[in-house]
Amino acid sequence: MLVVMQLGAAKKEIADVESEIVRMGYTPHPIRGVERTVIGAIGDERGKARLQALETLPGVERVIPILKPYKLAGRELRKEKTHIDAGNGVIFGGKRIPIIAGPCSVEGLEQICLAGELVKRGGATVLRGGAYKPRTSPYSFQGLAEEGLKMLREAQKRTGLLIDTEVMKEAAVELVAEYADIMQIGARNMQNYDLLKAVGQTRKPVLLKRGLANTISEWLMSAEYIMSQGNMQVILCERGIRTFETATRNTLDLNAIPVLKRETHLPVVVDPSHGTGHWEYVEDMALAAIAAGADGLIIEVHPNPQEAWSDGAQSLTPERFSALVEKARKVAAAVGREI
Ligand code: PEP
Ligand code: MN
Repeated sequence: MLVVMQLGAAKKEIADVESEIVRMGYTPHPIRGVERTVIGAIGDERGKARLQALETLPGVERVIPILKPYKLAGRELRKEKTHIDAGNGVIFGGKRIPIIAGPCSVEGLEQICLAGELVKRGGATVLRGGAYKPRTSPYSFQGLAEEGLKMLREAQKRTGLLIDTEVMKEAAVELVAEYADIMQIGARNMQNYDLLKAVGQTRKPVLLKRGLANTISEWLMSAEYIMSQGNMQVILCERGIRTFETATRNTLDLNAIPVLKRETHLPVVVDPSHGTGHWEYVEDMALAAIAAGADGLIIEVHPNPQEAWSDGAQSLTPERFSALVEKARKVAAAVGREI
């Protein structure tokens, strides 16, 4: 339910409503808007009608149901866009569009440090690299695990870039959170609810990739799982979905950007690398994503794509990445954003 406070409601009245929500067994989520405060009362859907009684408290204007199933992620609770500060002044959801770039996998110390230096030079502010890799085949390279995380840390020391890396299982959340500035939930884990709850218990930004064949509504419910645990820092990442088309690895659903803008206040990042599967298509789709309103890009870049241990075919050379960013700056300026 949404408790809409009166204009100019006193601090004490707001605090009293919050305590009453807690007493009734729900969690209050106050949003202090420019004009007025609204408080989401979130919890067990059964018996939520009891919350209507909050209308009798001083300072309350009205109590209305939140119609969408994604209560915290939806626009009903929060009208303004959420800004997610990942550190170092890198903010997702603001005017500036951050670029996350780097190899699919961490392959070694020199490889990740070189990749970091090159993508930084090209305009990235966050270095990506998987230390735990969700591979389709159990015989493919599975990632360097904790050693890989240590290499990412060294790359961070040398470049000053933030780190985005994937966490695949609940038991590794604490460890990955120590090394990552942004924890990535891969497409294959979008509906791993225990993992979502575990990253929800941390206070690290989470990059939540869209599942291989999931609707936008299911994706937002996964964001809701994370937020229901108190972690509001969720960045959504469109990375293409499975369709009948085989010319590309996935079909990058750019429709999702305007739909998400309407449905949620969370920032939306686009991954044209996994979205297309071919480096030749990455630039065009990256530019299109910015034109359509994306709040960030995540792009696979390898110092030498032909030698990459995973996803070489869709990885850009550092030179092509720099050229992409130059063009992206122009598109961003055309739509009132900057890189
Ligand atoms: C990745 O980012 O390397 C990755 C495995 O992506 P996805 O989960 O989108 O397939
Ligand atoms: Mn990859």
